Amino acid sequence: MSAASEALANAEALAHADDLADFVAASPSSFHAAAEVARRLTDAGFTALDETSAWPAQPGGRFFVVRDGAVIAWVVPTAATVATGFHVFGAHSDSPAFKLKPKPTTGRLGWLQAGVEIYGGPLLNSWLDRELRLAGRLVLDDGTSVLAATGPLLRLPQLAIHLDREQNDRLALNKQTQTQPVWGLGEAASADLLGEVASAAGVDAARIRGYDLVTADAARGAVFGKNDVFFASGRLDDLASVHAGVVALAAAELDAPHIAVLAVFDHEEVGSATRSGAAGPFLQDVLERVQLSLGAARDEQLRALSASWCVSSDVGHSVHPNFPERHDPVVQPVLGSGPILKINANQRYATDAAGAAAWHGWCAAAGVASQEFVSNNAVPCGSTIGPITATRLGIRTVDVGIPILSMHSARELAGTADLHDLTRVASAFFAG
Ligand code: ZN
Repeated sequence: MSAASEALANAEALAHADDLADFVAASPSSFHAAAEVARRLTDAGFTALDETSAWPAQPGGRFFVVRDGAVIAWVVPTAATVATGFHVFGAHSDSPAFKLKPKPTTGRLGWLQAGVEIYGGPLLNSWLDRELRLAGRLVLDDGTSVLAATGPLLRLPQLAIHLDREQNDRLALNKQTQTQPVWGLGEAASADLLGEVASAAGVDAARIRGYDLVTADAARGAVFGKNDVFFASGRLDDLASVHAGVVALAAAELDAPHIAVLAVFDHEEVGSATRSGAAGPFLQDVLERVQLSLGAARDEQLRALSASWCVSSDVGHSVHPNFPERHDPVVQPVLGSGPILKINANQRYATDAAGAAAWHGWCAAAGVASQEFVSNNAVPCGSTIGPITATRLGIRTVDVGIPILSMHSARELAGTADLHDLTRVASAFFAG
């Protein structure tokens, strides 16, 4: 690469990272992420569809449908027929966090605290000493749902080193007694945490009949390091993939040989077995309705699925310089050297030889370098939405993502260039 084209690639990657920081700031909960995807696609000319309404005939159309914290969007090429397959880019909208319990206004000793459960598998100590927002949805007495997000409101203060000199040797938090954030001073009996959230949303707290509210780091994502190679932010797992997918889909053309689909699921961090999770029927229902709107019979639907691909994108592990023994000794992806192809013999990732070959083809078409990830045999492998989607739909599936460090930390670490490269591969995948 010449110095000039390298500088241009750098500028594009920095602009992409800045846009991702905006996206994460607008998406403190899965519900906000789905709404932000919808907002961006609406701006790009997509039409919102309602699951309870009939859907129009679709050639040449751009559509999306939101189900709770999930969203599926698609572009139907002008020349689409009943035999046209799908290219599905999958990702998830949720991240590990703390979730508000019933009767959430608690406290003692003059402190106001929040009653929280633990959502998914956060690195608990990473959530200490950060200002946190509270965000999600409120369902009101008339059944309507409103998004709500506070500014910086809560914090989990760490105990001073002077009060426990052994903390650096064994920091372990009790998940009930030592994870309840503070959010003010006073008596719990005369305070109302939900009232704070309601006023942030501009609604009357007395109208709240239900809520799904989680914590999110209040700090904005930022690039740093030599030559701005690093990008740190909350919720990179998996908003980095959601953002890459929405940027690529918003620019997708109407001349592709397949229907381009972005599928953003909720609840990946807690097993995906929900109506808006990857193990639920959402994607299958949407694909079937798209096919029915094209006039496909059952046999034609199955033929189109056989001609389809799913790229399941979720963050993976970069090699960590301080813990090399946790990684495979040979296959060692690192930040900044491109997205990763995830491989696991026990099919914790759906990638197989055919998927690997297809992935390398899309990367080559995009001019993007790619790396491989495989676990150390003595370290259990995680999983993601890829195997679930492949099992549900029978679609050929490949698991990919960007390499990160600090996975499930309140603030994760990615490579600036990889974020942009993932979008470029997603565009090539959507184009053909
Ligand atoms: Zn993930």
